[in-house]
Amino acid sequence: MTDGRGLCAGCAHARVVTSARGASFVLCGLSRTDERFAKYPRLPVVACKGFEAPEPPREAQGHQR
Ligand code: SF4
Repeated sequence: MTDGRGLCAGCAHARVVTSARGASFVLCGLSRTDERFAKYPRLPVVACKGFEAPEPPREAQGHQR
């Protein structure tokens, strides 16, 4: 599942879940704490106030010595 998700594809709150029938859905982690967000957003999501880019790996943050 690499396309068709829109913003969810690159969002830190997105988790991909697969049903028993093999269908994949995006589960929005923000839905647990904020009712404005659907648990399973309708894809593709093209605009979302909750979008957050994932944290870069530590070694990519430039704090190494
Ligand atoms: S916050 Fe928005 S972009 Fe991120 S997973 Fe939820 S619906 Fe998708």
